[in-house]
Amino acid sequence: MRIANYDGRVHLLVGDGEASGIDVGKASAGRWDGTPAAVFDDWPAFRSWAADVDADGPEPLDPSLLGAPSPTPRQVFAAGLNYAAHAAEGGMGPPEAPPIFTKYLSSLVGPFGEIALPSATVDWEVELVVVMGAASTRVAEEDAWGHVAGLTIGQDLSDRVVQMQPPAPQFSLGKSFPGFGPTGPWLVTPDEFDDPDDLRLGCSVNGESMQDGRTSDLIFPVPKLIAHLSSVVTLHPGDLIFTGTPSGVGVGRRPPRFLGVGDELTTHIEGIGEMRHRFVVPQDH
Ligand code: ZN
Repeated sequence: MRIANYDGRVHLLVGDGEASGIDVGKASAGRWDGTPAAVFDDWPAFRSWAADVDADGPEPLDPSLLGAPSPTPRQVFAAGLNYAAHAAEGGMGPPEAPPIFTKYLSSLVGPFGEIALPSATVDWEVELVVVMGAASTRVAEEDAWGHVAGLTIGQDLSDRVVQMQPPAPQFSLGKSFPGFGPTGPWLVTPDEFDDPDDLRLGCSVNGESMQDGRTSDLIFPVPKLIAHLSSVVTLHPGDLIFTGTPSGVGVGRRPPRFLGVGDELTTHIEGIGEMRHRFVVPQDH
Protein backbone atom coordinates (compact mmCIF):
# COMPACT_ATOMS: atom_id res chain seq x y z
CA MET A 1 0.00 0.00 0.00
CA ARG A 2 1.14 3.53 -0.73
CA ILE A 3 -0.28 6.70 0.81
CA ALA A 4 0.50 10.31 -0.02
CA ASN A 5 -0.06 13.67 1.64
CA TYR A 6 -1.82 15.48 -1.19
CA ASP A 7 -2.37 19.16 -0.42
CA GLY A 8 -2.64 18.33 3.30
CA ARG A 9 -5.02 15.38 2.91
CA VAL A 10 -4.16 11.69 2.97
CA HIS A 11 -4.69 9.89 -0.31
CA LEU A 12 -4.50 6.16 -0.91
CA LEU A 13 -2.59 5.70 -4.18
CA VAL A 14 -4.18 3.45 -6.77
CA GLY A 15 -2.17 1.28 -9.19
CA ASP A 16 1.58 1.30 -9.66
CA GLY A 17 1.88 4.75 -11.22
CA GLU A 18 1.81 8.11 -9.51
CA ALA A 19 -1.23 9.39 -11.33
CA SER A 20 -4.19 8.88 -9.06
CA GLY A 21 -5.41 8.47 -5.52
CA ILE A 22 -8.45 8.30 -3.25
CA ASP A 23 -9.13 10.98 -0.63
CA VAL A 24 -9.23 8.97 2.61
CA GLY A 25 -11.34 11.51 4.52
CA LYS A 26 -14.06 11.48 1.87
CA ALA A 27 -13.92 7.76 1.06
CA SER A 28 -14.15 6.87 4.76
CA ALA A 29 -17.09 9.24 5.28
CA GLY A 30 -15.21 11.00 8.03
CA ARG A 31 -13.93 7.87 9.83
CA TRP A 32 -10.57 9.66 9.44
CA ASP A 33 -10.50 13.44 9.27
CA GLY A 34 -8.23 13.42 6.22
CA THR A 35 -5.04 14.56 7.94
CA PRO A 36 -1.98 12.30 7.78
CA ALA A 37 -1.62 12.39 11.60
CA ALA A 38 -5.08 10.85 12.07
CA VAL A 39 -4.25 7.72 10.07
CA PHE A 40 -0.88 7.19 11.77
CA ASP A 41 -2.55 7.49 15.19
CA ASP A 42 -5.00 4.72 14.21
CA TRP A 43 -2.71 2.76 11.87
CA PRO A 44 -3.87 -0.90 12.30
CA ALA A 45 -7.52 0.13 11.79
CA PHE A 46 -6.54 2.25 8.80
CA ARG A 47 -4.66 -0.69 7.21
CA SER A 48 -7.74 -2.91 7.57
CA TRP A 49 -10.03 -0.27 6.13
CA ALA A 50 -7.65 0.47 3.22
CA ALA A 51 -7.40 -3.23 2.31
CA ASP A 52 -11.13 -3.32 1.51
CA VAL A 53 -11.76 0.19 0.21
CA ASP A 54 -13.71 0.62 -3.00
CA ALA A 55 -11.12 1.95 -5.47
CA ASP A 56 -13.69 3.53 -7.80
CA GLY A 57 -13.25 7.16 -8.77
CA PRO A 58 -9.62 7.89 -7.95
CA GLU A 59 -8.64 11.47 -8.79
CA PRO A 60 -5.53 12.42 -10.78
CA LEU A 61 -2.81 13.90 -8.56
CA ASP A 62 -0.64 16.91 -9.45
CA PRO A 63 2.90 16.05 -8.17
CA SER A 64 3.53 19.69 -7.20
CA LEU A 65 0.84 19.37 -4.48
CA LEU A 66 2.45 16.36 -2.76
CA GLY A 67 3.64 17.15 0.76
CA ALA A 68 5.70 15.34 3.37
CA PRO A 69 3.99 11.97 4.05
CA SER A 70 4.07 12.62 7.82
CA PRO A 71 4.19 16.44 8.03
CA THR A 72 3.46 16.83 11.77
CA PRO A 73 5.42 14.16 13.65
CA ARG A 74 5.80 14.56 17.40
CA GLN A 75 9.50 13.69 17.08
CA VAL A 76 12.16 13.41 14.38
CA PHE A 77 15.23 11.26 14.98
CA ALA A 78 18.29 11.03 12.76
CA ALA A 79 21.24 8.66 12.95
CA GLY A 80 24.76 9.72 12.02
CA LEU A 81 27.68 7.57 10.83
CA ASN A 82 25.43 4.63 10.01
CA TYR A 83 27.33 3.43 6.91
CA ALA A 84 30.99 2.41 7.36
CA ALA A 85 32.13 4.03 4.09
CA HIS A 86 30.47 7.33 5.09
CA ALA A 87 32.07 7.25 8.56
CA ALA A 88 35.43 6.61 6.86
CA GLU A 89 35.05 9.57 4.47
CA GLY A 90 34.57 11.74 7.59
CA GLY A 91 37.76 10.32 9.08
CA MET A 92 35.95 8.17 11.65
CA GLY A 93 35.54 4.45 12.32
CA PRO A 94 32.16 2.72 12.70
CA PRO A 95 30.44 3.79 15.95
CA GLU A 96 29.61 1.34 18.75
CA ALA A 97 26.20 2.99 19.17
CA PRO A 98 24.44 5.16 16.59
CA PRO A 99 24.93 8.92 17.22
CA ILE A 100 21.42 10.45 17.34
CA PHE A 101 20.27 14.03 16.71
CA THR A 102 17.02 15.69 15.63
CA LYS A 103 15.94 17.73 12.67
CA TYR A 104 13.61 20.41 14.02
CA LEU A 105 10.05 20.22 12.69
CA SER A 106 10.30 23.58 10.91
CA SER A 107 12.81 22.02 8.48
CA LEU A 108 10.27 19.54 7.06
CA VAL A 109 9.01 20.04 3.48
CA GLY A 110 7.65 17.92 0.64
CA PRO A 111 9.23 15.99 -2.22
CA PHE A 112 9.28 18.64 -4.98
CA GLY A 113 10.03 22.35 -5.07
CA GLU A 114 12.57 25.03 -4.25
CA ILE A 115 14.79 25.21 -1.17
CA ALA A 116 16.54 28.42 -0.09
CA LEU A 117 20.31 28.06 0.16
CA PRO A 118 21.48 29.93 3.31
CA SER A 119 25.22 29.55 2.66
CA ALA A 120 27.85 28.15 0.30
CA THR A 121 28.46 25.08 2.52
CA VAL A 122 25.22 23.09 2.18
CA ASP A 123 25.61 19.37 1.52
CA TRP A 124 23.37 16.49 0.42
CA GLU A 125 22.62 13.25 2.36
CA VAL A 126 20.17 10.76 0.84
CA GLU A 127 18.51 8.71 3.59
CA LEU A 128 15.88 6.04 4.02
CA VAL A 129 13.25 7.49 6.37
CA VAL A 130 11.08 5.33 8.63
CA VAL A 131 7.57 6.51 9.60
CA MET A 132 6.37 4.88 12.83
CA GLY A 133 2.93 3.26 13.01
CA ALA A 134 2.64 2.49 16.71
CA ALA A 135 3.56 3.86 20.12
CA SER A 136 6.78 2.02 20.89
CA THR A 137 8.67 1.58 24.15
CA ARG A 138 11.43 -1.02 24.57
CA VAL A 139 10.71 -2.77 21.27
CA ALA A 140 12.67 -5.96 20.54
CA GLU A 141 14.56 -6.04 17.23
CA GLU A 142 12.50 -8.96 15.97
CA ASP A 143 9.26 -7.02 16.56
CA ALA A 144 10.48 -3.68 15.20
CA TRP A 145 9.21 -3.90 11.60
CA GLY A 146 5.72 -4.49 13.02
CA HIS A 147 5.84 -1.00 14.55
CA VAL A 148 6.64 0.70 11.22
CA ALA A 149 3.89 2.30 9.14
CA GLY A 150 6.10 2.65 6.08
CA LEU A 151 9.20 3.95 4.38
CA THR A 152 9.84 7.11 2.44
CA ILE A 153 12.77 9.03 0.94
CA GLY A 154 14.53 11.77 2.87
CA GLN A 155 17.32 14.29 2.43
CA ASP A 156 19.26 15.24 5.56
CA LEU A 157 20.47 18.55 4.10
CA SER A 158 23.30 19.92 6.20
CA ASP A 159 25.14 23.24 6.50
CA ARG A 160 28.58 21.84 7.34
CA VAL A 161 29.88 25.05 8.92
CA VAL A 162 26.94 25.42 11.33
CA GLN A 163 26.96 21.66 11.98
CA MET A 164 30.62 21.65 13.04
CA GLN A 165 30.65 25.07 14.82
CA PRO A 166 33.15 25.01 17.71
CA PRO A 167 33.37 24.33 20.58
CA ALA A 168 30.82 21.48 20.27
CA PRO A 169 29.15 20.26 17.05
CA GLN A 170 25.61 21.55 16.41
CA PHE A 171 24.16 18.75 14.31
CA SER A 172 20.51 19.57 14.95
CA LEU A 173 20.82 23.28 14.10
CA GLY A 174 23.09 22.73 11.10
CA LYS A 175 20.55 20.32 9.62
CA SER A 176 17.38 22.33 10.32
CA PHE A 177 17.33 25.42 8.12
CA PRO A 178 13.90 25.81 6.44
CA GLY A 179 13.56 23.13 3.78
CA PHE A 180 16.46 21.02 5.07
CA GLY A 181 14.21 18.03 5.81
CA PRO A 182 12.41 17.08 2.59
CA THR A 183 10.60 13.71 2.57
CA GLY A 184 8.35 11.93 0.11
CA PRO A 185 7.04 11.51 -2.50
CA TRP A 186 4.81 9.08 -0.54
CA LEU A 187 4.92 6.37 2.10
CA VAL A 188 5.28 2.72 1.04
CA THR A 189 4.35 -0.02 3.53
CA PRO A 190 7.12 -2.55 4.34
CA ASP A 191 5.21 -5.50 2.80
CA GLU A 192 5.53 -3.88 -0.65
CA PHE A 193 9.31 -4.58 -0.74
CA ASP A 194 10.97 -7.92 -1.54
CA ASP A 195 13.40 -7.07 1.29
CA PRO A 196 12.84 -3.77 3.15
CA ASP A 197 16.35 -4.13 4.63
CA ASP A 198 18.06 -4.01 1.23
CA LEU A 199 17.11 -1.01 -0.91
CA ARG A 200 19.30 0.87 -3.36
CA LEU A 201 19.42 4.61 -2.60
CA GLY A 202 21.22 7.57 -4.08
CA CYS A 203 21.16 11.16 -5.23
CA SER A 204 22.48 13.26 -8.07
CA VAL A 205 23.21 16.94 -8.62
CA ASN A 206 22.31 18.29 -12.07
CA GLY A 207 22.21 14.69 -13.31
CA GLU A 208 25.65 13.73 -11.94
CA SER A 209 25.48 10.82 -9.49
CA MET A 210 26.85 11.73 -6.03
CA GLN A 211 25.68 8.89 -3.79
CA ASP A 212 24.79 5.31 -4.72
CA GLY A 213 24.45 2.81 -1.88
CA ARG A 214 22.31 0.05 -0.41
CA THR A 215 20.51 0.01 2.95
CA SER A 216 21.88 -3.52 3.49
CA ASP A 217 25.13 -1.69 4.34
CA LEU A 218 23.54 0.07 7.34
CA ILE A 219 25.65 -0.57 10.47
CA PHE A 220 22.44 -0.25 12.55
CA PRO A 221 19.59 -1.43 10.30
CA VAL A 222 16.00 -0.29 10.88
CA PRO A 223 15.18 -2.95 13.57
CA LYS A 224 18.35 -2.11 15.54
CA LEU A 225 17.64 1.64 15.34
CA ILE A 226 14.08 1.19 16.59
CA ALA A 227 15.24 -1.11 19.41
CA HIS A 228 17.98 1.35 20.37
CA LEU A 229 15.80 4.49 20.27
CA SER A 230 12.85 2.87 22.04
CA SER A 231 15.14 1.62 24.83
CA VAL A 232 15.36 5.29 25.85
CA VAL A 233 12.40 7.24 24.45
CA THR A 234 8.81 6.40 23.51
CA LEU A 235 8.33 6.55 19.75
CA HIS A 236 4.93 7.81 18.63
CA PRO A 237 2.86 7.07 15.52
CA GLY A 238 3.96 9.38 12.69
CA ASP A 239 7.45 9.93 14.17
CA LEU A 240 10.28 9.98 11.63
CA ILE A 241 13.64 8.22 11.80
CA PHE A 242 16.26 9.39 9.29
CA THR A 243 18.48 6.30 9.15
CA GLY A 244 21.80 7.77 8.00
CA THR A 245 23.51 8.42 4.70
CA PRO A 246 25.88 6.32 2.55
CA SER A 247 29.23 7.63 1.28
CA GLY A 248 29.53 10.31 -1.39
CA VAL A 249 28.63 13.48 0.53
CA GLY A 250 30.18 16.72 -0.71
CA VAL A 251 32.22 17.47 2.40
CA GLY A 252 34.03 14.14 2.04
CA ARG A 253 35.28 15.00 -1.47
CA ARG A 254 38.69 16.43 -2.33
CA PRO A 255 38.18 19.27 -2.88
CA PRO A 256 34.87 19.52 -0.97
CA ARG A 257 31.83 20.19 -3.12
CA PHE A 258 28.62 21.89 -1.99
CA LEU A 259 25.25 22.89 -3.44
CA GLY A 260 24.99 26.13 -5.41
CA VAL A 261 22.09 28.38 -6.44
CA GLY A 262 20.32 26.82 -9.42
CA ASP A 263 21.47 23.27 -8.69
CA GLU A 264 18.87 20.52 -8.98
CA LEU A 265 19.11 17.68 -6.45
CA THR A 266 17.40 14.41 -7.39
CA THR A 267 17.03 11.82 -4.62
CA HIS A 268 15.87 8.25 -5.20
CA ILE A 269 15.22 4.98 -3.38
CA GLU A 270 14.40 1.69 -5.08
CA GLY A 271 10.74 0.73 -4.68
CA ILE A 272 9.70 4.18 -3.44
CA GLY A 273 10.46 6.73 -6.16
CA GLU A 274 12.20 10.06 -6.52
CA MET A 275 12.25 13.59 -5.06
CA ARG A 276 13.47 16.71 -6.93
CA HIS A 277 14.53 20.04 -5.44
CA ARG A 278 16.07 23.20 -6.86
CA PHE A 279 18.19 25.53 -4.71
CA VAL A 280 17.44 29.25 -4.77
CA VAL A 281 18.57 32.51 -3.13
CA PRO A 282 16.80 33.05 0.23
CA GLN A 283 14.25 35.86 0.47
CA ASP A 284 14.19 38.05 3.57
CA HIS A 285 10.96 38.15 5.58
ZN1 ZN B 1 22.31 12.28 7.92
